[in-house]
Amino acid sequence: MAMFTRASLTCSQCGKSFPLNLNVKPQAIRCPFCQKEMASDMIEDVYTAAGYVSDINYRFRKYLNERDEPEFRLSVWEEEIHYPYEDTE
Ligand SMILES: [Zn+2]
Repeated sequence: MAMFTRASLTCSQCGKSFPLNLNVKPQAIRCPFCQKEMASDMIEDVYTAAGYVSDINYRFRKYLNERDEPEFRLSVWEEEIHYPYEDTE
Protein backbone atom coordinates (compact mmCIF):
# COMPACT_ATOMS: atom_id res chain seq x y z
CA MET A 1 0.00 0.00 0.00
CA ALA A 2 1.22 3.49 -0.78
CA MET A 3 0.05 6.92 0.26
CA PHE A 4 -0.66 9.55 -2.35
CA THR A 5 -1.41 13.22 -1.99
CA ARG A 6 -4.36 14.20 -4.11
CA ALA A 7 -5.15 17.80 -4.88
CA SER A 8 -8.16 19.32 -6.52
CA LEU A 9 -9.17 22.77 -7.64
CA THR A 10 -12.66 24.17 -7.40
CA CYS A 11 -13.59 26.59 -10.13
CA SER A 12 -15.65 29.44 -8.71
CA GLN A 13 -16.98 30.34 -12.14
CA CYS A 14 -18.90 27.09 -12.63
CA GLY A 15 -18.66 25.60 -9.12
CA LYS A 16 -17.15 22.30 -10.29
CA SER A 17 -14.02 20.62 -8.96
CA PHE A 18 -11.34 18.80 -10.84
CA PRO A 19 -8.19 16.90 -9.81
CA LEU A 20 -4.64 18.16 -10.26
CA ASN A 21 -1.88 15.82 -11.36
CA LEU A 22 0.87 16.62 -8.88
CA ASN A 23 3.47 14.64 -10.82
CA VAL A 24 3.39 16.92 -13.83
CA LYS A 25 3.22 20.70 -13.58
CA PRO A 26 1.37 21.97 -16.64
CA GLN A 27 2.10 25.15 -18.59
CA ALA A 28 -1.53 26.20 -18.16
CA ILE A 29 -4.39 25.17 -15.90
CA ARG A 30 -7.86 25.41 -17.34
CA CYS A 31 -11.17 24.32 -15.84
CA PRO A 32 -12.22 21.27 -17.88
CA PHE A 33 -15.89 22.19 -17.44
CA CYS A 34 -16.06 25.88 -18.37
CA GLN A 35 -12.57 26.41 -19.86
CA LYS A 36 -11.69 29.37 -17.62
CA GLU A 37 -7.91 29.63 -17.31
CA MET A 38 -5.92 30.24 -14.14
CA ALA A 39 -3.51 33.20 -14.04
CA SER A 40 -0.16 31.74 -15.11
CA ASP A 41 1.73 33.21 -12.13
CA MET A 42 -0.48 31.14 -9.77
CA ILE A 43 0.55 27.74 -11.13
CA GLU A 44 3.95 27.62 -9.43
CA ASP A 45 2.46 28.59 -6.05
CA VAL A 46 -0.34 26.03 -6.35
CA TYR A 47 2.17 23.24 -6.97
CA THR A 48 4.54 24.49 -4.25
CA ALA A 49 1.69 24.55 -1.71
CA ALA A 50 0.46 21.06 -2.66
CA GLY A 51 4.02 19.73 -2.51
CA TYR A 52 4.52 21.27 0.91
CA VAL A 53 1.38 19.61 2.31
CA SER A 54 2.52 16.32 0.81
CA ASP A 55 5.96 16.67 2.48
CA ILE A 56 4.41 17.45 5.86
CA ASN A 57 2.18 14.38 5.71
CA TYR A 58 5.12 12.25 4.63
CA ARG A 59 7.01 13.49 7.70
CA PHE A 60 4.10 12.64 10.00
CA ARG A 61 4.23 9.04 8.71
CA LYS A 62 8.01 8.95 9.04
CA TYR A 63 7.84 10.16 12.66
CA LEU A 64 5.26 7.50 13.40
CA ASN A 65 7.46 4.78 11.94
CA GLU A 66 10.80 5.93 13.32
CA ARG A 67 9.90 7.55 16.62
CA ASP A 68 6.44 6.20 17.36
CA GLU A 69 5.05 9.74 17.39
CA PRO A 70 1.29 10.14 16.91
CA GLU A 71 0.41 10.59 13.25
CA PHE A 72 -1.58 13.55 11.96
CA ARG A 73 -2.64 14.39 8.45
CA LEU A 74 -2.97 17.88 7.05
CA SER A 75 -5.76 18.73 4.61
CA VAL A 76 -6.45 22.25 3.43
CA TRP A 77 -9.64 23.52 1.84
CA GLU A 78 -11.70 26.65 1.56
CA GLU A 79 -15.21 26.85 2.85
CA GLU A 80 -17.77 29.62 2.92
CA ILE A 81 -19.18 30.18 6.38
CA HIS A 82 -22.43 32.00 7.03
CA TYR A 83 -22.44 34.05 10.24
CA PRO A 84 -25.74 34.92 11.97
CA TYR A 85 -24.93 38.66 12.02
CA GLU A 86 -24.99 38.65 8.22
CA ASP A 87 -28.78 38.16 8.32
CA THR A 88 -29.33 41.67 9.70
CA GLU A 89 -27.55 43.45 6.86
ZN1 LIG B 1 -15.23 26.06 -14.34
